[in-house]
Amino acid sequence: MFYLLIILIQMKILLNNNTLIRKIRPFNDIGFVPTMGGIHEGHISLIKKSQKICKKTIVSIFVNPKQFNNKKDLKTYPTNIKKDLSVLKRVKKIDFVYLPKFKDIYNNKAKSNIKIAAKDKVLCAKYRKSHFEGVLDVMDKLTNLIKPKKIFMGKKDFQQLFLVKNFIEKKFKTKIIGCKTIRDKKKLALSSRNYLFNKDDLEVARNISKNFFLIKKKIKKHKNIKKFLLETKNNMQKKFKVKIEYLELRNEKTLNVTKKYRGSKLFVAYYLKNIRLIDNI
Ligand code: AMP
Repeated sequence: MFYLLIILIQMKILLNNNTLIRKIRPFNDIGFVPTMGGIHEGHISLIKKSQKICKKTIVSIFVNPKQFNNKKDLKTYPTNIKKDLSVLKRVKKIDFVYLPKFKDIYNNKAKSNIKIAAKDKVLCAKYRKSHFEGVLDVMDKLTNLIKPKKIFMGKKDFQQLFLVKNFIEKKFKTKIIGCKTIRDKKKLALSSRNYLFNKDDLEVARNISKNFFLIKKKIKKHKNIKKFLLETKNNMQKKFKVKIEYLELRNEKTLNVTKKYRGSKLFVAYYLKNIRLIDNI
């Protein structure tokens, strides 16, 4: 009981910008973990990394409507603040949890003029119109408010990490730290969207994930990678009854399509039962 009380006292929940600014003002070594809730071990790994490197850690939970290109996806996004807070309370030494409302982030009515360069309109940027513009907009606003020394983000969302790093590090002193993807025992990348699946669908997702690891290994033996990936994509769509949006080998530094295995990642986005999952291997 006493132990739980200490944890509750330690973790300050900030419900608006005035409280946020007042509470974090004294600190200049803040590590920030932005999330949209549906907290899982992937988020917690980012929090632990921040706690190792920074004096204070702040986690935000904000489902940013501007980054959803699909209304139904926004409506069904798995959030449960009560549950998230109880999970976060069990993680030791989180200093602040920031739960902004829409008006805290978008109080300035001026329309954002953030644009993604044409060369970056690949992978998710090609298929999710305005998604990354919305991500960069919210990251711009959050960084400006919190002024963290470091922001911890997952490599699971590799293109997001790539674009946010380029954008934020050019504009602010803040450093973006990319952190490894956390997977379950069967190698499925943890994601808030996994909460939307029933047990059977989760097994299918795990099987698909296992296949992507095998495909990445097989790429080494193939001369015509493009052809191999196209055939693989078609076969997997039939086998698992999924719609694969993209399955592409790209250079991990530039995100350009590559034929070289070294320094590459296999990027994938697919729909299983109308739920969109992404991964990179
Ligand atoms: P989200 O709540 O999905 O917006 O994710 C918040 C942060 O957690 C982002 O930086 C994600 O890249 C990161 N993240 C999500 N899933 C994982 C994972 N399985 N492993 C590591 N980081 C993750």
